[in-house]
This record gives sequence, C-alpha cells and structure tokens, in this order.
Amino acid sequence: MRTWERTVSKGLRALGLESIRNKLLAFAVLATLIPSLATVWVSYVHSQRSLTEKITGEQHSLSAQASRELDLWLKERLYDLRVFASSYEVSENLERIPRTPKGGEPVRQGPAYGRLRDYLNSVRDRFADYEELVVVDPGARVVATSASAAGADTVALPPDWLRVLKIDNAVVGEPYRNPATRQPVMIVAVPIYPSSGRLIGALTAKLNLRAVQQISRRFAAGGPGGMIVVTADGTLLAGSGSGGAAPMAARLPPESVRLLFDRAGSAVRYRGFEGEETVGTLEPVPRLSWAVVATIPGETAYRQATRLRNLTVLIVAALLLGVGLLAYLLGVLIVRPLDRLTTGAAKVAAGDLAVDLPVVSGGEVGSLTEVFNDMVARLRDGRRELERLSVTDDLTGLYNRRYLMETLANEIRRSRRLEHRCALLMADIDHFKEYNDAFGHLAGDEMLIKVARALRDSTREVDCVVRYGGEEFVVLLPETGGEEAAETAERIRARVAAEGLAAGTITLSVGVAEFPTHGDSPESMIAAADGALYRAKREGRDRVVRASGAAKSASPP
Ligand code: GH3
Ligand code: MG
Ligand code: MG
Repeated sequence: MRTWERTVSKGLRALGLESIRNKLLAFAVLATLIPSLATVWVSYVHSQRSLTEKITGEQHSLSAQASRELDLWLKERLYDLRVFASSYEVSENLERIPRTPKGGEPVRQGPAYGRLRDYLNSVRDRFADYEELVVVDPGARVVATSASAAGADTVALPPDWLRVLKIDNAVVGEPYRNPATRQPVMIVAVPIYPSSGRLIGALTAKLNLRAVQQISRRFAAGGPGGMIVVTADGTLLAGSGSGGAAPMAARLPPESVRLLFDRAGSAVRYRGFEGEETVGTLEPVPRLSWAVVATIPGETAYRQATRLRNLTVLIVAALLLGVGLLAYLLGVLIVRPLDRLTTGAAKVAAGDLAVDLPVVSGGEVGSLTEVFNDMVARLRDGRRELERLSVTDDLTGLYNRRYLMETLANEIRRSRRLEHRCALLMADIDHFKEYNDAFGHLAGDEMLIKVARALRDSTREVDCVVRYGGEEFVVLLPETGGEEAAETAERIRARVAAEGLAAGTITLSVGVAEFPTHGDSPESMIAAADGALYRAKREGRDRVVRASGAAKSASPP
C-alpha cells in the first residue's frame, strides 16, 4: 500500500467514512453543496448589489430634492428677514431707542421701543415659522423682542456672530431644543443697516422647524420608506418613518453617521435610532450642516433578495435531500451485493457449498458475483467427486467397503424400526489365484470388472453392490427375505458361470444371510454371510449357501 493511500485511509477512518455507503453519501453531499453554495453566494451578492443600485437611484433622487427644498426654505426665510430688517420701522425706531448714560444699555420703554416691538409682534403673528423675533445691538444686547419681556434677555448667537454677519450678511445658528415647546428651533440673524450705512444691530429670528418636518413628510409620502433630517452629529431634527424617535433627543449611532456622510449619495446599510437595520441615502443640505436621509427598513429593502436567498436555500436543501437519497440508494445497490458476497463467502468458508448468489446487477460487482458462483459450483462438483471417490472402488466402479459399512448400518437400523427384512450376499471368485497365475494380473483385473458388471446387471437399482475385498463382493438387498435373496444369488452365480469370460470359465461361491434371522448388526450379518460363503467353498464351490438355519440352495456342479 502506498503512503498516500495509507494516509487517506486513515483520514477517512477518522471521519467515520470507511464504508462505501458513507463515502458515497459524503461525496454526493459535498458535490451538491459546494457548487450550490457558490452559486447561491454569487447570485445573492449580485442581487444585493443590483438592489442597492436600484435603492440608491430611488432614494438619492428623493433626498436630493428634499435637500434643495430645505435650502430654498432657508433662503426664503433669510430673504424675508432681510426685507423686515430693511424696513424703516426697524432701523429708525432702533436708532431712536435711548441708551443709559452708564454702559449704553438700551432703555426698553418709550414710543420708539413700543413701535419696534409692535412691528416685531405683527411680523411674528403673520408668519408661522417664527417663534420669536428679537432685535439686538452689535453688543448682542436685546433691544426689542416679540416675546413677552420675561426670559428674552439673551439670544443664543454663535460667539463670532458679528464677524459672520458682516461677511455673509446673515448668521445661521445651530438648531437646539426649545425648552418651552420641546421642539427644535434655530436662530437666524440678518444685519440692520440704516441709510447711514453703519451696522446698528441685527434682526434675529427663532425659527421653528415645522416646515422642515412638512418637507420631510411630503417627500416620504412619495416613496416606499421615510425621510429624516439630521444634524452633522446625527441628531434628529425632523422626520417621518423614524419610528418613535423624538426630534433633538434621538441620535443616530456614531458609526451610522460616519457611514452615511462618508458615502453620501449612495444607499448604505446602517443602524437606525433604535439600532434597527435601515438602508438610507444621505444628501447634505447646502448652507446648513444638516443632511437629509431617505430611509427604508432593511428588511423591506432587501425583501426580494432575502426571498431569493430563502428560495435558493430551500432548493439546495431539497437538492441535498434528493441527492443524498440517491447516493444512499446507490450505496445500498452497491453494498447489498457485496454484503451477499461476504455472507456467501463466510458460508463457503464454513463448509456450506449450497450457495448460489443472485446476479442482480451487471458491472464489476455482477461479474464478481458470477465468478464467485462459478467458483462455488466448481468446489461443489469437486467435493461431490471426492465424495464419490471416497465411497467407490477404483477398479470396478462399485461401492467400497467403507460405504457398505455405513449403508448396512443404516439399513439394519431402518429395517429394525420398520420390522422389515433385508439380506446380504457375500460372493467370492473361486480359484482366482490360479486364474491370475494362468492369465496374468491384468486379465485378472479385467475379470473383476466383468464380474462387477454381472453383479450390477443382476440386481435392482435399490440394491447396494460392493467390492468388499480383492475378489470378494457383497450385495445388500433391502426389503428382501432370505428366499428371494438366495434366488438373486443364484441368478448371479448362474450368469457368471454361464458367461464365457476371457480365457476360461469362472465361478462364484455365494453366502446368503438374512436380517433379522442370521444377525441383527452389520458385523453379525457379515459374519453370517461370510460363514455361509465358507461353507459354500468347503462344499465344493460354485454354489449359493444360505446361512445356518436356512435350507441349502444346491446348485448344479
Ligand atoms: P478360493 O476358491 O479358495 O477362493 O481360491 P482363491 O485362489 O480365489 O483364493 P485366494 O484367497 O487364495 O486368492 C485370492 C487371489 O485373488 C489372490 C490375488 O492374487 C487375487 N487378487 C486379489 N485382488 C486382486 C486384484 O485386484 N486383481 C487381480 N488380478 N487379482 C487379485
Ligand atoms: Mg477370496
Ligand atoms: Mg477366491
């Protein structure tokens, strides 16, 4: 056995794959599983990719539109605010509001102050976007406000607002949560320039984000998923389809924010506010550090791909089952004849040659079975021949002495049981020595063969004719009485005597014994027949003599 063969066999044994059936099964499962899984994986990845492309296409168009709308909304608000800021009501009244001599604080009373406040209130009441309008001086001190005096002394402006205001002509603050309404708000401010052209303050507006909410809702309604607006750090500002997430309170996980912003414009899978799997496409909003994200629950987005995957898994499972079953059947088809061969070989080894296996299939195993059957048949024939040889006399073809002893014992047992009779003849050629001496040993052999044939021809099929010794023969006659046996003996004697054999005439002396009269065992029967034969010799040969008690059958000299 080669080294590789030994190594592989050892490995297979360790895996419990020694039998052909298991090997076939393992091979079938692997041969099905590997290409199937590879195909499933490729098609799953492909369908996932094309779905992602499709989702990107749909979501990006929605989020880009929503982003433009938001930008427009902000531009409009700033434009409106600039219009209000440039009104005489604002600049003139602001200039007229007196200041305290010490510190230059604005004095929030008097007619100018009243008019400015009324103007702010009227504007706020007309536009739903404004929560509050405040006029501040360049030192960020509140000069007038649309809100009730309490709690409106400061405006949440960024630290470098004045510089930004001068450069950009507007300040857009970060959104924050209004404690009173618990809704997100943001500060925007525009400069106030009177005719003199010197910056005298800023008109700031606290904007609620209801419009943002409406925009996101409107766009969400046009698609299969939702639409959310988030700040740069992922805080929810407004949104639909964002579950129970509350604006300004809910925040996307940092890795989701990173993913969405990094791959802005294409659909990504990310974890939503509650950690739920979501697919979304982000579009930043110009001018604002916000972004619009068109969303769809991950499950919905990839339902088709998931369905395809489940279907393929089901098909692969069915395939595996089918192929496994086939492999099992194949294994059984191969192994069963082999099992039969093993059982048959074991029987033959134990000495049972009555084995003939069915040849069910062709191929190698079929040929092997045929060869096996052939081999067993030859063994059977060989054994039969051996058995025959072991009970046959070589020269005459008659049964031998061993066979006689077995058969005689059986016959006596049977006759005793059934209370039947049987008889034994013992014949000896007279003066055979002389014949041999006269014509040679070969002629003697020839003579023995002829006598044997005469014995067989003169007896029945059921009689057992035996060469007992050199020129002595025994015939066992079942179901035969002494009288009848003596007649048979006489017939034999007469035939041999009458036959012109070879160079001269030959005669036979025969002793007859009968069961149970002359003996009730093989030995006593043989002794009785032998005794009768002895008497026949003594009385002159060429005659039949029945054992004592029986009348002598005289034969002609
Ligand atoms: P009897 O009448 O008293 O029986 O005389 P017999 O000569 O036949 O008796 P004996 O027992 O003296 O001689 C038997 C002879 O048979 C001796 C032997 O040469 C011969 N014989 C025995 N077996 C064979 C054999 O197989 N072939 C041949 N040719 N002769 C055999
Ligand atoms: Mg003799
Ligand atoms: Mg003799």
